[in-house]
Amino acid sequence: MIPSRRCPTFDIIVVQKHYAFLPRDSLSIDSTGLNGGALRVERTCAMSSTFKVPFGRKDGRLVEPGDLPSGLDRHCVCPGCGDALVVRRGSKQPHFAHYRYAPTDSCVETALHQAAKQALLDERYIVLPGVAAEAIVTYNHKPRRRRKVLVEANTRLAFTECHAEVGMDAVRPDVVAHFAEGHDLPGSAIAIEIRVTHKADSKKREKLRAMELMAIEVDMRGARGHTDLAVIRALVLEEVKNKTWLHFPKLEEIRAQMQAEMDAIVEAHLEREANDKARYAEAERILREKLAAQAGENKAKQHAEEMRRDDFRRLSVEGKERRLRKWLAIDGDWPALLNFPHRANSAIPVPAYLWQAGFFRRYYRLDKAQMQSMEQVMEWLDALFGPISDQRRAGEAVTAFIAHLSEAGHYCRRLVDGSVIFLAATGLR
Ligand SMILES: [Zn+2]
Repeated sequence: MIPSRRCPTFDIIVVQKHYAFLPRDSLSIDSTGLNGGALRVERTCAMSSTFKVPFGRKDGRLVEPGDLPSGLDRHCVCPGCGDALVVRRGSKQPHFAHYRYAPTDSCVETALHQAAKQALLDERYIVLPGVAAEAIVTYNHKPRRRRKVLVEANTRLAFTECHAEVGMDAVRPDVVAHFAEGHDLPGSAIAIEIRVTHKADSKKREKLRAMELMAIEVDMRGARGHTDLAVIRALVLEEVKNKTWLHFPKLEEIRAQMQAEMDAIVEAHLEREANDKARYAEAERILREKLAAQAGENKAKQHAEEMRRDDFRRLSVEGKERRLRKWLAIDGDWPALLNFPHRANSAIPVPAYLWQAGFFRRYYRLDKAQMQSMEQVMEWLDALFGPISDQRRAGEAVTAFIAHLSEAGHYCRRLVDGSVIFLAATGLR
């Protein structure tokens, strides 16, 4: 692996020397130019002399110091100040020295600027960084994003035409390139700004926006200290990390539309939630009312039942007998089954045949089996035939009567907890 950013100056020189044989990714140049190896190189140069111009201009083209023989070449001049250049070799990497004037930083900047433009004009393509429109909304306290890629990262855009320093309305981009249809890009031209020192100011961006011209800035600060045109070409044409979109037509509109769509979705969600909430509240209200009505009904039923029990209880013995005869369809003699003698019967203050007939009607003459605890039976008995003061004895009488009915074939089942399931009567015998 070829060392990159954190390497000493010497390793950078090795990288430069062999660049042409390396796959693109193995050459890593600090694109910001501020913290990486490139700056180290520059610093070393600055220490040994002043600003070294990396490329000379000869016959209208930029050349590397390595392309020329040692010594003065009067036809090779500094692209910045126009001074003639001298190629120096010796033990070091070949480099240019000014012949008469002291070089300035402007000489270096101009040389880099022109080298970058030359790369674009010669090769007539550029690899673009991606463009994506992104919208974001917050829903349920969480951010939700939507991203739409408008240009895939590393899109290679070939030019049909390419010109430097063309005046266009109010701006004069470093390079304006035209491209054929078939790309999913807005328009048919792209402005390319080369950044060696300062980035494009807001005024320039504003003008590019007004012209609806696709525009990109290529940061060349990472090329400082390099005297190899291949490095320049790699940075201008192939690298994408050092490229920034200055303007991409319709990006803002697309983003705004996506944002509006997402906002609408969230709004619809919120509205639906509010509607749901209102519907649930209404359903709850109706249910509560229903329950309240039912509770009232139950209370009324219970009350009616109590009234009936009270009515029955107030009847005389004859009245109770008449009522029971009617309910049980008893004509003539009272069935012996419903007049079972037991010593505990006296705990219930009515003649035994009355409560026994009432008990038989309630617990056996039913379509369905039912389960009752002895407490419930006692409560019923007390309400209709009470008051019962000795519940234990009354329970004894009832238990004996149930056993008597069971013996006669009227089934019931006693549960472990003392409850009784009354199953079915087989009819009065
Ligand atoms: Zn110069």
